[in-house]
Amino acid sequence: MSQVKGDSMHLRNRAMDWGRAGGVGLILSALVSTAATGAEGASRESLAHAETLRNRALTGTSAMTIVTSLTTEVGPRLAGSDAEARARAWALRTLTAKGFAGVRSEPFEMDAWQRHDEGAEIIAPYPQPLAVTALGGSVPTPETGLLGTVAVFETLEDLKRAPAGSVTGRIAYVGHAMQRTQDGSSYGYFNEARTAGPSIAASKGAMGYLIRSVGTDSHRFPHTGSLRYQEGIPRIPAMALSNPDADQIERIAADKSDVRMRMWVDSSERPAAQSGNVIAEITGREAPEEIVVIGAHLDSWDLGTGAIDDGAGVGITMAALELIKDAGLAPRRTIRLVLWGAEEVGLLGAQAYRKQHEAALAQHVIGSESDFGGGRVWKLTADSQTEEGDALFLEIANLLAPMGIAPGSDDQPGGGPDLYPLIAAGVPTLRMHQDGRDYFDLHHTADDTVDKLDAAALDQNVAAFAVFAWLVADSDVTFRAAAP
Ligand SMILES: [Zn+2]
Repeated sequence: MSQVKGDSMHLRNRAMDWGRAGGVGLILSALVSTAATGAEGASRESLAHAETLRNRALTGTSAMTIVTSLTTEVGPRLAGSDAEARARAWALRTLTAKGFAGVRSEPFEMDAWQRHDEGAEIIAPYPQPLAVTALGGSVPTPETGLLGTVAVFETLEDLKRAPAGSVTGRIAYVGHAMQRTQDGSSYGYFNEARTAGPSIAASKGAMGYLIRSVGTDSHRFPHTGSLRYQEGIPRIPAMALSNPDADQIERIAADKSDVRMRMWVDSSERPAAQSGNVIAEITGREAPEEIVVIGAHLDSWDLGTGAIDDGAGVGITMAALELIKDAGLAPRRTIRLVLWGAEEVGLLGAQAYRKQHEAALAQHVIGSESDFGGGRVWKLTADSQTEEGDALFLEIANLLAPMGIAPGSDDQPGGGPDLYPLIAAGVPTLRMHQDGRDYFDLHHTADDTVDKLDAAALDQNVAAFAVFAWLVADSDVTFRAAAP
């Protein structure tokens, strides 16, 4: 039980004190205290390299150039599409040119959804067009569209409570009151209206489904995103209205007028389409079989060019790997960059990775994905299960503190959506919490483009990823509790 963590809150509070005070002497005192518990932690030399990497990153990295290249030369890259294949070709080319080891694509097959045409309009009482987009995975409507009256529900909960058959032959609309938050935590709750809503509406008899976009902006950009049809329930077409258009529907409905509308979707599914994960590495000098995973997802939705979701993550993590390589540093363990395919449509790349690397997962030391836009990191958490893991986490936190990053007490597993299949297999994670107050203004919209990103904020992220990946990979610290 000595490996199992003790009072991590206490340790983290101490880290915050150290962060404020700063200085090498305090880092050394951290080393002394870890030595006293028998853990090796990071060597003085390794910490010095980490500090150099951090400082170098803050003077400018390749992150912005990488995102700009991906979003310009490939653009939108929907999972399983030819565009996503071009993104893999772009990644292989770019990673090879940067001189990384083990550059390869690991393909897998999937059913690829395609959007062809879409639209909606109010027929009565006030005829006018609406800004809408189909949810990813939506079945098509008949060619002439669906014509019907709208049943308005303020929340998904209201729809769930509606009696069976109460919306038969109608288009169910669900609103919400999602607010912007720094950590984006409200998304998990509100996006159920998008993912689960269509089947709930169909189970009550609805012929079509409409939501207020799961977003926080007030622009006429509808937000797409995946839905999940439930087995055994009719699949109905589903769309998202931009926030101002959702306001319009609610205003008319509040007037007690029946809103009569038409919506149309043309979409199709391509079975056995190709996707893949793209990998590049810096090979470990002593324990190459031990893997520290960083990365981002390569696919995007089809409306914008996927700059904040998740071109930013691709730029940040690729630039971090490049920074370490260009410093001529060879860590003890392997640092592996994984650019996951088909994240948006259900973490398909992450699931394929888990299957393809099943035998090696016990040697995956820790993972962290960057998938929350390009905002600055403000908090750092990890689900370390060991004292030595906690101690190394504090050394990382101490080096990141001057950039405004504080260690948090939340040690729930996380570290990015593509890590969930790995978490289920026991891989520990570290999470760089980015400021996401404007993330859901742009998320999954046509407005997700590279002009929204700030190079200096990306560089701050690169510094954090480089310090983390380098320090863990250059150590022999384990974050997993020993098997009982
Ligand atoms: Zn994403």
